[in-house]
Amino acid sequence: MAVRVVLVGQGLVATHFAVGVERIKKGEVEPYGVPFAKYNMVYDIKDIEIVGSYDVDEEKVGKTLYDVAIKSVGDILPVPETLKSVTVRRGIHLGSLEGLPFRVKGLEDELGSTKAAIERLVEEWKQLQPDVIVEVATTEPAKAFNDVKALEEAIERDDRRRLSASHAYAYAAYLYAKETGRRVVFVNVIPSPIARDDAVAKLFEEAESLVLGDDGATGATPLTADLLEHLAERNRYVLSIAQFNIGGNTDFLALSVPERNKMKEETKSSIVKDILGYDAPHYIKPTGYLEPLGDKKFVSMHIWWKTFNGLEDELVVNMRINDSPALAGLLTDLVRIGKALVERGVKGTAYPVNAFFMKDPGPRGARNIARIRAYYQLLDYLREKGVIK
Ligand code: NAD
Repeated sequence: MAVRVVLVGQGLVATHFAVGVERIKKGEVEPYGVPFAKYNMVYDIKDIEIVGSYDVDEEKVGKTLYDVAIKSVGDILPVPETLKSVTVRRGIHLGSLEGLPFRVKGLEDELGSTKAAIERLVEEWKQLQPDVIVEVATTEPAKAFNDVKALEEAIERDDRRRLSASHAYAYAAYLYAKETGRRVVFVNVIPSPIARDDAVAKLFEEAESLVLGDDGATGATPLTADLLEHLAERNRYVLSIAQFNIGGNTDFLALSVPERNKMKEETKSSIVKDILGYDAPHYIKPTGYLEPLGDKKFVSMHIWWKTFNGLEDELVVNMRINDSPALAGLLTDLVRIGKALVERGVKGTAYPVNAFFMKDPGPRGARNIARIRAYYQLLDYLREKGVIK
């Protein structure tokens, strides 16, 4: 049985995912960076099949995944020919690339309304028959609705200011599940509030489907969470936390727009109070764009705390991290886990999954916990549900 996947946003993360999964299938690389790869899961990595891809960048729409991959990672990786079978389709834009230097057109412009664009997606998905839809497009400003009626009215009114593209995709996934009776998984690894939007979680619950999110936890944030847990367990009192990231990929370019940076800041900062129990002064932000660094971002961290006898200690960490492959590795688990869980009757959202994989785990108001704890809790949960044999 296959895990049929549709990707929304054919950027670096989605491309590393597509290339990496195909290379693992061919036995070219080991599944390093896939957290649960060593366990016997009901779906193997070899079961993952990419059946569709969406973008709004005119440079990508109409090209095959192979062409997109050759252009973006062809100089550093061999690109499997199997990716020639999937062509990037036009998605819903709703301003998500506004202010950035790309030539863009959304389905809503082509068809005249957001509702018509959503209906088009549903029709296409009825043909493609995905089990899992992965939202991995550019970070966009987005606000939760928390009320199904308000979300549906915004679609009905074609309120392009209020609606985010991620909400439109999530709603299309819900409609596709409802109209086909298929149990669908929507995985949101961008900062938009989707799994932590009560409206979306409720719709997915009603359609016996599952939404996972929000914002994939890779890089410095999960490491900070684990370091804070270490300090909290020893009752050391944290005086300040500074953490910044500088990168040269288009994700960092997009984050140089203040409204988008704010979205990330929100999902990154929630770890401090949740783990320590108090809001230690902190500066945790994706800080800037520096083109020569490319996808291998520079991360730096400083944590300062009070220890026994009133003395003070400090920690400094510097890293260079391949940004996009880190999230692609997590996606390789998320799509398999999502499909296995929804088939076992899990609906709405699944906190144990989100707590490990996401920076701001749904449902709304859910706590962030150290990843080292979340990992073992998730392992128990997956065994209990029969997802890991
Ligand atoms: P990217 O800029 O390389 O790719 C984003 C792609 O989305 C582009 O091809 C763009 O044209 C497309 N896009 C934009 N709006 C769209 C829309 N409305 N519909 C369809 N496609 C659309 O970025 P990336 O490095 O691949 O990151 C993707 C997302 O993943 C970002 O939102 C980022 O914040 C999130 N994320 C990344 C990491 C990581 O890289 N480690 C971690 C957590 C979250």
